[in-house]
Amino acid sequence: MAEIIVVGAGLVGSLLSIFIAGRGREVEVYDRMPDIRLAGGNSGRSINLTLCERGLKVLDSVGVGDVVRAAAVPVYGRLIHDVKEELTFQPYGNHREAIYSISRSDLNKILLDYAASHYGIKFHFDEKCLGVDLDAPSIETKNSQTGLVTNHKAERIFASDGAFSAVRLQMQKKLRLNFSQQYWEQAYKELRVPPDAAGKWTAEKNVIHVWPRGNYMLIGFPNLDGSFTCSLHLALEGPLSFASLKTKDALLDFFQDSFPDVVPHMPELVTDFFTHPANSMVTIKCSPWSYEGKVSLIGDAAHSIFPSYGQGANAGFEDCATLAECMEQYGDDWTTLLKEFESRRRPNTNAIADLCVEHFVELRDLVGTPGFLLRKGIERKINQAYPDKYKDLYSMITFTCMPYTEALRVDREQRTVVDQIMRVEDIEQKLDSPEVERVIDRLMAVR
Ligand SMILES: Cc1cc2nc3c(=O)[nH]c(=O)nc-3n(C[C@H](O)[C@H](O)[C@H](O)COP(=O)(O)OP(=O)(O)OC[C@H]3O[C@@H](n4cnc5c(N)ncnc54)[C@H](O)[C@@H]3O)c2cc1C
Repeated sequence: MAEIIVVGAGLVGSLLSIFIAGRGREVEVYDRMPDIRLAGGNSGRSINLTLCERGLKVLDSVGVGDVVRAAAVPVYGRLIHDVKEELTFQPYGNHREAIYSISRSDLNKILLDYAASHYGIKFHFDEKCLGVDLDAPSIETKNSQTGLVTNHKAERIFASDGAFSAVRLQMQKKLRLNFSQQYWEQAYKELRVPPDAAGKWTAEKNVIHVWPRGNYMLIGFPNLDGSFTCSLHLALEGPLSFASLKTKDALLDFFQDSFPDVVPHMPELVTDFFTHPANSMVTIKCSPWSYEGKVSLIGDAAHSIFPSYGQGANAGFEDCATLAECMEQYGDDWTTLLKEFESRRRPNTNAIADLCVEHFVELRDLVGTPGFLLRKGIERKINQAYPDKYKDLYSMITFTCMPYTEALRVDREQRTVVDQIMRVEDIEQKLDSPEVERVIDRLMAVR
């Protein structure tokens, strides 16, 4: 019998196993998919992630941060492509801070390799968890190669089996589990710009490319080999939607009108579009996360968030670090430990979930508008004058490890300062004037 079973060998499950083994506990991990280190192919679901300060800090704490950085591309801001093919660079931070773009599967492979080579952790692939006995506790898995169904008992079970967690489903049936799920109105589809694309915008490797178009958008993430992984965000149904783009001509007309600078660099556009799935994005909140100190949810299984701030994996990694702190503090008192884990994390994951909804609307509707750019300009100005007193929300989320709840609180206070500066007459023309500097000084003096 294993001491601890982890269900799901994704980003969070593989990192969690490292934390658990690092505290001297025996751990085995089960995943329904084949081992991605051996399996090839492109499923059209291999999305890129960006990792930021908080996720990298956790990875550094177990010694794998630099391996991950070496497999990632640092990006310093967004390059906005408007309909006239004009480009505007928006830095992420004021001090050339970077986030790191990496393919989810590359990151997962690194974590699996590290867990196996440094801690000898046993991974069982092709083992789909069919159900969990919360009291035993145990899981039942079915091997996708042999069809064999097996029961595995453990002292404790962690479920990192993602947003549509099989373990959580069992908890929903057995416990008074509060649960909410909200789909984003749009879905996303992965498209690819191959490595040898050469052109004006493809030369910019250290940025995230964004084509905001109101009701839809395209985002391009750079890869180390010079390719870009793009995701098209579009309604699933309606007059302009994944469902409405039924033919090659309709697709090409749409791209030519909306993203003309991309078309020459996507030789596989038609094949990619018609073979890759349109994937949904969902916010999931639930509580409690654990059952009697025996079974606990973690990562996306406990909290799934929209990817607008690029925080899902970063937050899941922070879960692992917080759980490890609780393991140090509470030893074998697992009931208290798991309750404490949830009470430290859930307010934060709820806060980032709400912020992500807000930011998605901002990205979709506002990012290229004059009002948005002006607000960003004002924030940059305040931050340059008062770097220790004023940090914009994106920077607090991305370039600090401050709890998400704290970032939210500080942001709501700071917004009132920007609102007041926005009200200065003709602010668009006066941003760099002494008058605006005096207003900033006055407002910041009382903070
Ligand atoms: C479009 C998009 C963009 C994103 N961008 C970012 C970003 O920039 N930065 C960021 O930090 N996050 C991002 N995220 C979020 C990030 O991908 C997730 O938060 C992260 O993958 C969660 O990790 P996880 O291990 O909890 O779940 P998952 O990655 O979903 O892994 C779950 C694992 O459990 C396994 N599993 C599932 N069911 C079973 C079962 N019944 N039995 C056994 N195994 C099972 C799966 O095979 C999988 O390996 C993005 C997400 C999306 C959709």
